[in-house]
Amino acid sequence: MSTSSTSGMNPWRLWNRLPLWQKILAGMVIGIITGGIIGPDAIVLKPIGTIFVNAIKMLIVPLVFCSLIVGVTSMQDTGKMGRLGLKSIVFYLLTTAIAISIGLALGHFLAPGEGMNLIAKEQEAVKEAPSLVNTLVSIIPNNPVKAMATGNILQIIVFALALGISLNLIGDHGKPAIAIFTSLAEAMYKLTGLVMVFAPYGVFGLMAWVSGAYGMDVLLPLIKVIAAVYIGCLLHVYGFYGAVIALIGRLNPMRFFSGIVDAQAIAFTTSSSAGSLPVSLRCSQRLGASRGTSSFILPLGATINMDGTALYQGVTALFVAQAFGVPLTPGDYATIIATATLASIGTAGVPGAGLIMLTLVLTTVGLPMEGVALIAGIDRLLDMARTMVNVSGDLMVTTLVAKSEGELDTELYNGTRKFVETTPS
Ligand code: ASP
Repeated sequence: MSTSSTSGMNPWRLWNRLPLWQKILAGMVIGIITGGIIGPDAIVLKPIGTIFVNAIKMLIVPLVFCSLIVGVTSMQDTGKMGRLGLKSIVFYLLTTAIAISIGLALGHFLAPGEGMNLIAKEQEAVKEAPSLVNTLVSIIPNNPVKAMATGNILQIIVFALALGISLNLIGDHGKPAIAIFTSLAEAMYKLTGLVMVFAPYGVFGLMAWVSGAYGMDVLLPLIKVIAAVYIGCLLHVYGFYGAVIALIGRLNPMRFFSGIVDAQAIAFTTSSSAGSLPVSLRCSQRLGASRGTSSFILPLGATINMDGTALYQGVTALFVAQAFGVPLTPGDYATIIATATLASIGTAGVPGAGLIMLTLVLTTVGLPMEGVALIAGIDRLLDMARTMVNVSGDLMVTTLVAKSEGELDTELYNGTRKFVETTPS
């Protein structure tokens, strides 16, 4: 038998032996190289990525809905849910305000727009941003089926929480429904695992398309702003989150970062934090967060927490101000921090949403709208980095809040016990 020598040479076997995260990263790198070689024609590979994105999106609604109901019914303590929600929202907003401050600091010191000397035309009229009251009112779904059909995550969260609490309140009568949701949630976790097998190929298709689409002529004039956003994103994730995990969470940041690679890679390539939800849920549970906590805090984060988007708005607002020579006062800086933090709540976790919200930030401080057009050409590249940060932030807050509530299995986190995919009944 010649198995050992031949199997050692067989690339397919070698590939199959790699852990998933390595395959995903390999998919990214090979995609970038392929796109670089083929150029714009690499768009023919995009459908491979789109199939993967569709398959992941298919999971979101049933996964979030079922696992949140299971989470609520397994927690019993309604007060605890309230506390979890409040803590997460406070953390989410605080980290966002810090992210935008980092963005502003980088925009100020790196000055990516200096020397561009652009001249703005007349201000165009801008659409009104949705008011806070409207946003709050629309969180309550008037039709839960419609909320699911349109993928409105906040409304789905509200309905799942209400249904879960009611199932708890009716005691034995609730048990059959809970059993069904538990079984469906298990099936959705399994399905996520199955879809993830396809991730490296999907990621390859998406990266080949992006890298083929952007030539140097598009990138070079804006290279400074791209660099400033990427530096900010890396600082925020590996500096700030790492420090918070170590100092406040008293956890090993290395374990955290290696545990979230899959979610980061999917966020980076798909540019959608809502789309990355199934993978984030999987990562956070593998890191030991209880299903109840993760299925509540992560979907909330995917909808309201956008640290990367806020950071990007800080950098790009200053970039536009510098490029068009508009001076900003300290008051303008404060306005940018407040608007971008609030705008991040209303930003949908889908590709390109942050660019639309940028118009809001620019208008509040009177910066020219042409700035948006300038950024639009490279927005996908910036979107990838900011979505990676958004998802990392959701996972950081989930881990931290889970730890503080005794809902983090530290043996799983530290790798002293292995994660078991399904809970045997
Ligand atoms: N694409 C980002 C996300 O899904 C939102 C944005 O465009 O900033 O998190």
